[in-house]
Amino acid sequence: MAAPRKSAAKKAASKPAGGGKSLSAKELAALRAEIEEDIAQLEAEIEAAEADLLAMLQEGADGAGDDQADAGAKTYEREQEISLANNARELLDQNRRALERMDDGSYGICENCGNPIGKLRLQAAPRATLCMPCKTKQERR
Ligand SMILES: [Zn+2]
Repeated sequence: MAAPRKSAAKKAASKPAGGGKSLSAKELAALRAEIEEDIAQLEAEIEAAEADLLAMLQEGADGAGDDQADAGAKTYEREQEISLANNARELLDQNRRALERMDDGSYGICENCGNPIGKLRLQAAPRATLCMPCKTKQERR
């Protein structure tokens, strides 16, 4: 299941920039900026989710007289919050790995077959670690 994207999904819809296979330094810098922005946002989301969770736990400790339905709703809310935070952590991880690959020069190379991932795909999905054929294969498994 794809993780829900809130903000970054739409702005990646830039027009195709020629048919070049590799990223120019400028294009790479733009992707890096996008990823760094994503990291900052995800860190803020995780922090907010953790603060919410903490508040919920404290509330739970206070509200010993809650009826069962109420407690169930709170448990649900808490689980939602936890899965949100986990999603954000996973995305954060992908973003950080993308930055690492930019630093060590392996960015844009398919982790599976070693072929270039392709500029257009990277611009649409800056965190991609697989080329389109490998990604398709993986999804079919
Ligand atoms: Zn591949």
